[in-house]
Amino acid sequence: MENSKQVIYLDNNATTPIDKRVLDAMMPFLTNEFANANSTHQFGVHAYEAVKAARVQVAELIGAEAHEIVFTSGSTEAINIAIKGVAENYQPKGKHIVTLKTEHSAVLDTCQYLESKGYEVTYLPVKPDGLIDLSELKIVLRDDTILVVIMFANNETGVLQPVKEIAELVHSVGALFMSDSTQIVGKAPVNVDNLGIDLLCMSGHKLYAPKGVGALYVRQRMNRVKLSAFVHGGGHEKGLRSGTLNVPGIVALGAACALAEREMTKNAESILALRNYLETELLKIEGTSVNGNTSARLANTTNILFRGADSDAVIMGLSNPENDLPLIAVSNGSACTSASIEPSHVLTAMGLDDTAAFSSIRFSFGKFNTKKEIDLVIDAVKHVVSSLRAMVT
Ligand code: PLP
Repeated sequence: MENSKQVIYLDNNATTPIDKRVLDAMMPFLTNEFANANSTHQFGVHAYEAVKAARVQVAELIGAEAHEIVFTSGSTEAINIAIKGVAENYQPKGKHIVTLKTEHSAVLDTCQYLESKGYEVTYLPVKPDGLIDLSELKIVLRDDTILVVIMFANNETGVLQPVKEIAELVHSVGALFMSDSTQIVGKAPVNVDNLGIDLLCMSGHKLYAPKGVGALYVRQRMNRVKLSAFVHGGGHEKGLRSGTLNVPGIVALGAACALAEREMTKNAESILALRNYLETELLKIEGTSVNGNTSARLANTTNILFRGADSDAVIMGLSNPENDLPLIAVSNGSACTSASIEPSHVLTAMGLDDTAAFSSIRFSFGKFNTKKEIDLVIDAVKHVVSSLRAMVT
């Protein structure tokens, strides 16, 4: 981000900057090595080999096999392919789907679409700390349940659902389990076999790869998942998603996954220390509290309620080019629904009233943040929140 003022980016759950090493890996495929991965000449074969290698890198990060990875444009597309595909292919078993009220709009909107086509969807509530109540899940699961879609890590609060326990319950009624893992892949270890995940999605731009590339994991070993063509055409990506492959994006996603595999544990340690430091300092401000469970949580996220301070005003105050503060990027709600004037559906599902939801800010850290930056953020937030509160009293 270009600016004469210092920029501090704490909105990494919305998107991450591209890692220079990822850019270096993809650059040849944006320039000289531009061949179509389906061409049979040697240039095409080279592009095909690069895609093949990336498929292995993505699979390795989540404990899958390369043939179980379908490249997509991101998580939204992967979610659509998976949910609509299961709905279409598992009708003999039933038409009942279960999801959580705090899912991303990509899941909720897809489920609502299926309701309009005659499917029945149960939207489970969450507890005040954002966690699922497993006993409620047990109650709603039925013989005609075909799919349960529950995210691993929430994008707004970072709250981590007990995925393994969920998978066991889901499989006990013979349904499939999809976990939207967009926010956790690359931040913490995920193993689809150990966790019992049948379908999983990820987006490159959440783990330092560019926007416009992602992947869907579709279980092919033990409990093989059947899906159908989502984009019809030349039969690319096992016939699910036709269209010339985005070779540079795919290579970048592979490189980002390989880096994450090597570095995410170390990165998570330093990110956690910074997140905890910021949180401890900001909670010293009167009228503040953390939204969501503070132990079952991603290391990089904190969602803080500042009573009496409107979050849009806080965001503007922190990114105001006119004042003496650095430009600080934080958010309220999901970037995907930020045009909406509704309060966050995640926070209201956790029991916050509209005013509290409109007074909450998400700080999401990335591997490039430093302690110096966080010191500046702490001072800036204290200043902005107290000025706003002074204006309303
Ligand atoms: N799921 C979650 C949890 C997300 O955070 C996001 C993006 O913010 C998505 C799905 C959609 O990802 P994309 O916009 O890259 O398709």
